[in-house]
Amino acid sequence: MLAYIGLGSNLNQPKQQIKTAVLALHNAKDIEVVNLSSLYQSKPIDGSKQPDYINAVCQVNTHLTALELLYACQDIENKQHRVREKKWGARTIDLDIILYGVQVVASKQLIIPHPQMMNRAFVLVPLSELEDDLKVPVLGPLQDLIDKLDTSELIKL
Ligand code: ADP
Ligand code: MG
Repeated sequence: MLAYIGLGSNLNQPKQQIKTAVLALHNAKDIEVVNLSSLYQSKPIDGSKQPDYINAVCQVNTHLTALELLYACQDIENKQHRVREKKWGARTIDLDIILYGVQVVASKQLIIPHPQMMNRAFVLVPLSELEDDLKVPVLGPLQDLIDKLDTSELIKL
């Protein structure tokens, strides 16, 4: 199954955190990282006073189920000492499943497509680098989603 994972970090050398997490994904059992977007710099979504974020999206090929993939992502977050503070607070690393093939998931633990993806330029723009004519399940063509967003504050590094 081809899946897309969104990565974000704004603490403890964010660029390195992203690279470490991508390597950890690739080294995880039954996950192969097949593509990685450029790194992007974005402002905190809640406008609060915290460092800018570094974001990227990677494409993985996996034999894991969507839920197993979530657990693998959480394992990596824990290994990189992510401390769960308040919602949308600063973090060393955040791994979100953006898409899992064309599968739609709506459980207590897992929602796919990621429920905030359509609001986040730092997810959609790197995603479009990897597959610009993507049709997102439920939400429609990726380019239409991007057209509705203000991407002016997103910086490609
Ligand atoms: P956020 O990513 O919104 O800043 P967290 O990373 O702490 O917050 O995630 C909170 C919860 O979101 C996780 O415990 C997980 O169960 C749930 N979740 C639901 N859908 C997804 C998804 N597509 N990818 C990652 N986590 C998800
Ligand atoms: Mg998350």
